[in-house]
Amino acid sequence: MDHTDLYINGTWHKTDERFDVINPATEQVLASVASAGIADADAALDAAQAAMADWAARTPRQRSEVLRRAWELMTARLDHFARLITLENGKAGADARGEATYAAEFFRWFAEEAVRADGMIAHAPASGARIMVLNKPAGLAVLITPWNYPAAMGTRKIAPALAAGCGVIIKPASETPLTMLALMPLLEEAGVPAGLVNVLPSKKTGALVDHMLHDPRVRVVSFTGSTGVGRKLLKSAADQVLKPAMELGGNAPVIVFDDADMDVAIEGTMLAKMRNLGEACTAANRIYVHEAVAPEYIRRLSAAMSALKVGDGSDPSVDVGPLVNAATRDKVAEFVADALAKGAKLECGGVVPDGRGFFYPPTVLSNVPETADCVHDEIFGPVAAIQTFTDQGDVIARANATEYGLVAYVFSGDFKRALQVCERLDYGMVGLNRGLVSDPAAPFGGTKQSGLGREGGHEGMLEFMETQYISASW
Ligand code: NAP
Repeated sequence: MDHTDLYINGTWHKTDERFDVINPATEQVLASVASAGIADADAALDAAQAAMADWAARTPRQRSEVLRRAWELMTARLDHFARLITLENGKAGADARGEATYAAEFFRWFAEEAVRADGMIAHAPASGARIMVLNKPAGLAVLITPWNYPAAMGTRKIAPALAAGCGVIIKPASETPLTMLALMPLLEEAGVPAGLVNVLPSKKTGALVDHMLHDPRVRVVSFTGSTGVGRKLLKSAADQVLKPAMELGGNAPVIVFDDADMDVAIEGTMLAKMRNLGEACTAANRIYVHEAVAPEYIRRLSAAMSALKVGDGSDPSVDVGPLVNAATRDKVAEFVADALAKGAKLECGGVVPDGRGFFYPPTVLSNVPETADCVHDEIFGPVAAIQTFTDQGDVIARANATEYGLVAYVFSGDFKRALQVCERLDYGMVGLNRGLVSDPAAPFGGTKQSGLGREGGHEGMLEFMETQYISASW
């Protein structure tokens, strides 16, 4: 691996303490990576603060051109990034290339948004003053990302932060720091000035992040990860009243009505369930199928799941790689054992294979009882858990009965009914006759305990901006 050290102020820094990154397909050590401490965090904050002054003063068009160049460079090197993603995360080649493409697109989208940080001007109705509203860079941002999308969860934050004029320190997940480190030479080449973006992998994550969130120069904390860690960060952020952006956990319901086009429903479910091997906050977690079409749906979904080839994601003929680590694989196996013990039926999969690598086969469970743990928690693996329904009001209530509210999926051939259902679902996003909602041009994010704020779309850059209002007379 070319880059395994800390990236601070545009240079690579070695540390005494290091940690291993494992290839989940082989369980072999891929790289030994530097682990950042408090002094490194201070150096990164100094560098970002210094670089931000000049960056924020550049014209929007100048910032936009750098981001556009980053998109061009990353698009030219998709294979390189896809290979790295597969090596450290495990996802299979097509999935990894899909992520690399998606990740690069955030640079293009926010290159376009950088020149549209529009404010507004209005006439105050009573006083006659002018109300002038400006958007300004919010300040230094600490970005913390998970292992399931080693490239995209980083670029989804870096691109809008840079578009807005902010400097950043990014703390990638310890399982998958290599992709983010590999992105840094590309950003340099694109024209990102030294110090503006710093990467601090660390095994002392809690203390490191807490230290940065208490530095008076930091104004934004943008986190993607579990709801539990998100709650902790919100508490830390409260001490300095930081601007929080939280993309947290999900428990996505899929609702398949009896008038759904079955080809579309199966294809959409496969995408919602198996993109990233189910290791996604957007992954289909609870599948509700109308009783009238359940037998056909279960048969066809089981056939599609069984047809997937499991193996090392570096092999181009493989559809499904390993899960990221042993703990994630074991948790998936526990969810399946729990559901079966409570009365679910195993339609396919369900057996951990022998040998090296954290593999788990694509699995379908039918007749899953409401009491099963997988109905209430994120499975985060390739297990489709199916229940049935007959009544529309009942299925909406069941879909909404969770503390999460990230994304729901609806399959129906009756558009009027489908839209009525979408509006009643308490979710930040809904896939209607589609199994994929992620799009750089759309506001990604959840309600309830799935998070605060939005990434992507027009909203994404506002997370890194402060609104200033000037009351003016002339
Ligand atoms: P995680 O355990 O919450 O870790 C995410 C990041 O937070 C990692 O960089 C981790 O660092 C760091 N972290 C852990 N403890 C911390 C602490 N006390 N203070 C500060 N940072 C801390 O989540 P994960 O297991 O990597 O990812 C899976 C979760 O992410 C799922 O719940 C999934 O739904 C969610 N997710 C949400 C979205 C979304 O957009 N809503 C997208 C993707 C994933 P270390 O690796 O060093 O521990």
